[in-house]
Amino acid sequence: MSIITQQSETFLKDYLNNPSPTGFESGGQKLWLDYIRPYIDGWDIDHYGTVYGTINPGKPFSVVIEGHADEISWFVHYITDNGFIHVIRNGGSDHMIAPSKRVNIHTEKGIVKGVFGWPAIHTRRDAASKQQPEVDRIFIDVGAENKEEVLKMGIHVGCVITYEDEMMVLNDRYYVGRALDNRLGGFCIAEVARLLHEQKVELPFTLYVVNSVQEEVGLRGAEMIAQTLKPNVAIVTDVTHDTSTPMMDKKKIGDVKCGMGPSVTYAPAVHNKLLKLIVETAASSDIPIQREAASRRTGTDTDAFAYSNGGVPSALISIPLRYMHTTVEMAHKQDVENVIRLIHDSLLRIQPDMSLKYL
Ligand SMILES: [Zn+2]
Repeated sequence: MSIITQQSETFLKDYLNNPSPTGFESGGQKLWLDYIRPYIDGWDIDHYGTVYGTINPGKPFSVVIEGHADEISWFVHYITDNGFIHVIRNGGSDHMIAPSKRVNIHTEKGIVKGVFGWPAIHTRRDAASKQQPEVDRIFIDVGAENKEEVLKMGIHVGCVITYEDEMMVLNDRYYVGRALDNRLGGFCIAEVARLLHEQKVELPFTLYVVNSVQEEVGLRGAEMIAQTLKPNVAIVTDVTHDTSTPMMDKKKIGDVKCGMGPSVTYAPAVHNKLLKLIVETAASSDIPIQREAASRRTGTDTDAFAYSNGGVPSALISIPLRYMHTTVEMAHKQDVENVIRLIHDSLLRIQPDMSLKYL
């Protein structure tokens, strides 16, 4: 039976279509909070916008389940005298995909439309015009005559820019869109909260359902909220690369495929005993999993929780994703469902008196 209902999918669509650029996540956080509010006992927001719902408050042992709320974007960086806009990254935005994309420029007067222009193929004859897209080469055209007109439209240096692409479903099998990284994570933990509420589960610990900001610029929201909540355990969910598509090198990036289940990561930051609990949960709940290894860091909020507060046992459950940081990111519905199940079922096995020591 499917866990994801029509109602939850409607929320997912609204949540994905709403922009939530790094540092400016409030609109998305509001949507997310509105959705989980019936399933939590309370909520709070920190000074930089990380929102968390609390279930079963006041217990001495606490567990975090976490995703990140922010999406990669661009900043207006320089406006030329003839009215073109040069950009810098806000997060790991991909300059290769920018030319020919339509954008939303977020201003105090509302959204202003623009496009990433590019010289026509016919005109790219000399060496200079054969250049590839680079961050300092791509530019936005808002149809203005000059800088003055751009400014009059409400655009200034520091305005944030997102792509307008919206969510769709491909072949009834894949969610497709921009910023599935990591709105899907926020969706999964929200669904876990819903399931716990609907099943009237009484957890022996306090559960924080955390939607962190600013992951895309270095796990910053998670760093902050880890200090605030000081949890005993953290289960983080993010996306990982499907390496089965063209031009991916499995020897370098690993072997993960959409539709084959959640991926668990082995890394020094990932707590052995917590990971074992998750892997055993997958086996007993008949949830297929895939495995990957990370040298040094996982590059996800897992690291932020793990290395906070003298060390918080943390683990990472990832959703396989195609074409990360493009506007056509793809995730398999079945994987999303299985991530929800795996987080949910793992929570039911966590006991406050369980030993998390390695010796
Ligand atoms: Zn990302």
